[in-house]
Amino acid sequence: MRWESEMSLAEQVRWRIGGPASRFGRVGDLVELRDALSGLEGGPLLVLGWGANLLVADRGVRAAVLVLDGAFDWIRINDSCLEAGAGAGLPALVGEARRAGAEGWCFLEAVPGTIGGGLRMNAGSADTGLWDRVIEVEAIAADGNSHRVTRKEVDASYRHVDLPADWVFTAARFELTPGDPEAVGAAHFERRRRKVTTQVYDLPSCGSVWKNPGPGSGSAWELVDAVGMRGASSGGARVAERHANFIANEGNARADDVMRLMRETRRRVLDQFGIALEPEIRFWGFDQEELASVGAAA
Ligand SMILES: Cc1cc2nc3c(=O)[nH]c(=O)nc-3n(C[C@H](O)[C@H](O)[C@H](O)COP(=O)(O)OP(=O)(O)OC[C@H]3O[C@@H](n4cnc5c(N)ncnc54)[C@H](O)[C@@H]3O)c2cc1C
Repeated sequence: MRWESEMSLAEQVRWRIGGPASRFGRVGDLVELRDALSGLEGGPLLVLGWGANLLVADRGVRAAVLVLDGAFDWIRINDSCLEAGAGAGLPALVGEARRAGAEGWCFLEAVPGTIGGGLRMNAGSADTGLWDRVIEVEAIAADGNSHRVTRKEVDASYRHVDLPADWVFTAARFELTPGDPEAVGAAHFERRRRKVTTQVYDLPSCGSVWKNPGPGSGSAWELVDAVGMRGASSGGARVAERHANFIANEGNARADDVMRLMRETRRRVLDQFGIALEPEIRFWGFDQEELASVGAAA
């Protein structure tokens, strides 16, 4: 594996926004991953999936950014489970489950990203996340140690999993529950139809910007809408008319444009409803003050 310097991340992330990574590399298998980790010597490491949930700062990020490629992109299916490398796509995994007529996978229809990103984000719907289907996950920590965890050993909740930030997920095994293929196909079709007609798939975005606040507080999109931010723009970024929890890049949006919209939305929702919105997206390359201004923990 060869490190590249000052690699533009805008081309690697779904929002098409952001500056360069000081070091960038693609690892093709576990040997290359271990080599790359040992070469870090304690320096910061970030793992990039499809960048479908990332806002990268305009100034870029001073860290080694790794993509799991090649031998990490595999999916196997048998009678009792689905297995996948962390570099495989969530859409491919969901497609396998659907074709097998397996129940309980439609919550992930039309969610872009990799298995690794999906595990880190516990991607899914309001009430179901990828970890709900996990049997076992394999990871390597930045110190090179291997780990294997089962679902029961892990605290996973809405868009969160309580595992060390320096773990690189490498593979996972998921449940496969046989169902009625026709009903399964129909459920997947309906879920996809609903998502692509109500959310933003024709412009670069990162999906939902804000987490839904707790029960009784409404959905994040309802709050954004209620404070008049639907359709608001800053530079090339706009709060989508179609779905107020999405911010679309309409052309040459910068991370600063997105941050401005987020700050204003959060301020208004706090003032009018007393609710402190928390971002669902992840941030790379921002300082503490910038993160705090949009309610993101470091
Ligand atoms: C149109 C659209 C619709 C969306 N709908 C949904 C939805 O319905 N539900 C939902 O939950 N999300 C949704 N999202 C957000 C996104 O699809 C998910 O968060 C997805 O899991 C991101 O995966 P990724 O591979 O792109 O991760 P990235 O954005 O690349 O990374 C996200 C985080 O995961 C970490 N990561 C990536 N790979 C690994 C790895 N191998 N090991 C350890 N950490 C890793 C990264 O470091 C980062 O912290 C949507 C996004 C878009 C653009």
